[in-house]
Amino acid sequence: MKKIIKKIILQITRIRYGTVIMGHHVYEENDFKDFNGVSKKMLYDYLLKNQKKIVSLDKILKKSILKFRKISITFDDGYKDIYNVVYPICKKLNIPFTIFIIVDKIDKEGFLSKEEIEEMIKSGLLTIGSHGYSHKILTDYNIDLKKEILSTKKYLEKAFDYKVDYFAFSHGQFNGKVLKEVKLANYKKSFSASYLSLSNRVIPRLNLVHFLKPSGNK
Ligand SMILES: [Zn+2]
Repeated sequence: MKKIIKKIILQITRIRYGTVIMGHHVYEENDFKDFNGVSKKMLYDYLLKNQKKIVSLDKILKKSILKFRKISITFDDGYKDIYNVVYPICKKLNIPFTIFIIVDKIDKEGFLSKEEIEEMIKSGLLTIGSHGYSHKILTDYNIDLKKEILSTKKYLEKAFDYKVDYFAFSHGQFNGKVLKEVKLANYKKSFSASYLSLSNRVIPRLNLVHFLKPSGNK
C-alpha cells in the first residue's frame, strides 16, 4: 500500500514539476558503491537512454503540459568528480546539467576549483545555483541566513559573472523563515532533497541513487 501511494505521489510530482534529479557523487568504478553516488556507467547509460528528454533547469521550470516527459539533472555540493566524470559525459552527449555550489568549498580539496566551474559555464551546459555558504542546516536557530542565502548569490554572481536564480537547501532542510530569506534574496526557485513538495516555491527532487538503482522508483 505504501509503495502504491509513493508511486502515485511520484507521478503527480512529475506532472507538476517534471523529473528533477539530485545527485552528489559519480564514481569511476562500475559497481554500486554507496548511497552518496552512482557509477559512471550507470549515469552514462541513463543519460544516453534519455538524451532527448534532458533539459536545463530554466527549461524544465517553464509552464508546459509536457513536463512529465522532461528531466533535469542537478548535483549538490560541487565535488571534483562532477568535473572529472560527469562533465566529459555531458559534453559528449550535449546534455545540460546544474551544480548547486557550497561557496566556502570552492577551491578546497575534493571540490571544484573556480577555473573548473568557469570552464563548465563557458561550455554552455552548466547552470550554477547556490547551496549556501557553509552547508550548515538552515533551520538551526543560530544560523546567519543572510550570509548563507543572499551573500552567496551575490558572491557567485560576481565571481562568475553569472545570474544565479536557484537555491538548494543544504541537507534539504527549510522552514518559513528560510523560504522568506530565499524570496527576499530574489531567487526564482528553491530546491528540496525530497520528492514531495508542500510549497509551490520549492521544487521537489528525486535522489539519483534511489532513481538509478535497479530496485528504485523509475
Ligand atoms: Zn549538500
